[in-house]
Amino acid sequence: MPREDLAARVQAARALREAAHRRRHLRTVTRRAGVVCTVDGRDLLNFCSNDYLGLSQHPRVIAALRDAAGEGSGAGASHLVCGHGAQHAALEAELADWLQAPRALLFGSGYLANLAVVQALLGAGDLCVQDKRNHASLIDGARLAGCAFKRYPHGDAEGAARQLASQAEGAALLASDGVFSMDGDVAPLRALAQVARAQRATLYIDDAHGVGVLGDAGRGSIDAAGLAAADVPLRLVTFGKALGSAGAAVAGDADLVAHLAETARPHIYTTALPPAQAAATREAVRIARAGDDLRARLAANIGRLQAGARARGLALLPSDTPIQPLLVGGDADALALAAALEQQGYWVAPIRPPTVPEGSARLRITLAAGHLPAQVDGLLDALARARDAVAA
Ligand SMILES: *Cc1c(COP(=O)(O)O)cnc(C)c1O
Repeated sequence: MPREDLAARVQAARALREAAHRRRHLRTVTRRAGVVCTVDGRDLLNFCSNDYLGLSQHPRVIAALRDAAGEGSGAGASHLVCGHGAQHAALEAELADWLQAPRALLFGSGYLANLAVVQALLGAGDLCVQDKRNHASLIDGARLAGCAFKRYPHGDAEGAARQLASQAEGAALLASDGVFSMDGDVAPLRALAQVARAQRATLYIDDAHGVGVLGDAGRGSIDAAGLAAADVPLRLVTFGKALGSAGAAVAGDADLVAHLAETARPHIYTTALPPAQAAATREAVRIARAGDDLRARLAANIGRLQAGARARGLALLPSDTPIQPLLVGGDADALALAAALEQQGYWVAPIRPPTVPEGSARLRITLAAGHLPAQVDGLLDALARARDAVAA
């Protein structure tokens, strides 16, 4: 057999994606002002960003970024060599204080942090048990770790217990998103904590979409579930969602976090975040922590979208978070709906497999504190019109 030609394979795969309505295209945003962004020369109302509190453009966050700009554009090295500066140390301390966790450790992104946690803690002979709808980075982490990897049906804590019980030897990590990124629902965290305790597994919660939004002082889904730091030995906080920045931290048990700091490859073999980015994130944490007013506006928008959707016969998935998906089903229909919305000035992301299960393409509507009530109403009317046009 002659060696397979990669270029030919890539072209064939692209043709298959084209036929299945699964191509993905980059859109360039040329201007962003709050919830309005300019794409291809047109202003669109943005209903697909994870900047739930609008902190990426908050004047105080931008000022913090500017004030720290004199420290330079990069950290110069990885944390363990000489890249760990005062901004990083302060951010880690302030995160631990906010989340009431013993220690926090910075990572370049949430994706890297998830690879780090699973890979640094588990190996051959160990077990990682995960919800089927977990974020891709958690799944990739388990694959890289070389441990046994078992998944349970979405949100099914008893399923998690069964999977853990099926392999009693070796160490075990039970990992779940706190808020599921494509569904918006919240994991059964109290039940998962009980299961982890009973099965002597370590519970790891990826709270990328919970922190800043849910819980007292925006501490996230773990706090909202009435759990304490001791119930959840490790959690992921990402800075790119409600904190409006970039990067991530793993917070929790001091010994486990110290182990990550010394052994996790995605921590050791990568450059630390730029100091000014850490400074901006520190300011974002302060605003999020005191941001009950922002959370109240966000909650009002969520309630308004839910009520308006009910009134118009639009079936949103059950979710009380800023992620409000409208299930569509077919990939082509999801694309057509998104295109019809864009024509009316609204940007909503169509999400298709493999990001979501086959046959469950959807519009992933995300709300922000900065959306005005009239803008939410406008989106609802546009959705109803788009639905009628696509159905016709
Ligand atoms: C976005 C996201 C991540 C990755 O975080 P980044 O900092 O963007 O790499 C991890 N987990 C979940 C659930 C996410 O939504």
